Amino acid sequence: MTVDETFADMQAVLGHLVPEFELRAKAGLAVEINQLKAEHNAVILGHNYMEPTLFHSVPDFKGDSLELSRKAAETDKDVIVFCGVRFMAETAKILSPEKTVLLPAKVAGCSLAASITADDVRQLKARYPGVPVVTYINTYADVKAETDICCTSSNARAVVESLNTDSIIFLPDEFLAKNVARETGKHIIFPTKTPKTDDEIEYELIGWHGRCEVHEKFTVEDIDNARRQFPDVLVLAHPECPPDVVEASDYSGSTTAMVNYVQDHDSPRFLILTECSMADNILAENPGKELLRMCSIRCPHMNEITMEETRDSLKYTQYVIDVPEDIRVRARASVDRMLAIGAPVASAD
Ligand code: SF4
Repeated sequence: MTVDETFADMQAVLGHLVPEFELRAKAGLAVEINQLKAEHNAVILGHNYMEPTLFHSVPDFKGDSLELSRKAAETDKDVIVFCGVRFMAETAKILSPEKTVLLPAKVAGCSLAASITADDVRQLKARYPGVPVVTYINTYADVKAETDICCTSSNARAVVESLNTDSIIFLPDEFLAKNVARETGKHIIFPTKTPKTDDEIEYELIGWHGRCEVHEKFTVEDIDNARRQFPDVLVLAHPECPPDVVEASDYSGSTTAMVNYVQDHDSPRFLILTECSMADNILAENPGKELLRMCSIRCPHMNEITMEETRDSLKYTQYVIDVPEDIRVRARASVDRMLAIGAPVASAD
């Protein structure tokens, strides 16, 4: 496609959101990226949190992280460019070891994934011998490798219930664990470094104090303010939000579940409590709906991924994501055990 054709396509979707001069510049970049993509036999994955001009121009697949990695694994492409953060690119590598996986930014971390190490998990397993470990997909490969089974925000409850056991170590998201505990009626404790307390003898879920630095910032006051101004607003909160926020919302679900919810409901306006770019991306595809969003709260890691970085990742084959084979195999087993329970996996963040 030419730059003019690409610009016309982007304007049709984003014209009401993005200034024309920016769209023209981004259309030129999109053409460059798409040429490089063809030359390198690459597939580009766009996470829901990517900025709108990138999200609506170059990805072959768009959506949640695990869903994207699974789709890329089914292609015959040699290269995967993951427009998302590092733990997501690692998941793509776990599922596609024969492909070259590129992350367009050198770091693109995540406060939640960084909250726990493989050694932390080993210490927890030593402290609670025989207790199964459930780990959220938003973790690094070496943490997944220490895990019995992974979960996503969509299937966390189903995974916990599938284990049919009194005690479960649930890592690392504190709020997701509390939300699952509330839904399943389970007691939750958070271990300290001191010897076990009486409380821990009757534990059911053992959590960890990891948090997403975006979702932890939303408050019930944000919801109250929106409802005061717009009594008909429907409020959607990601399950990584604090439990009182999830309880005060009309709906809680993964990013893909939120996209579907907006498309399937007729309310004139929605308040979306997740990364701001996702609300822009939903708005782009649902121009008749009003989406309230709090763009003062953005994920700095997701925002490291730009169209320029995406172009350069293909041009210079950077930054290559490698996962040691022994870790990859064990991490893959944790993902496969989750898939085997058959619950919907629309993922994490
Ligand atoms: S939005 Fe939260 S969970 Fe997602 S990458 Fe950013 S910090 Fe991590």
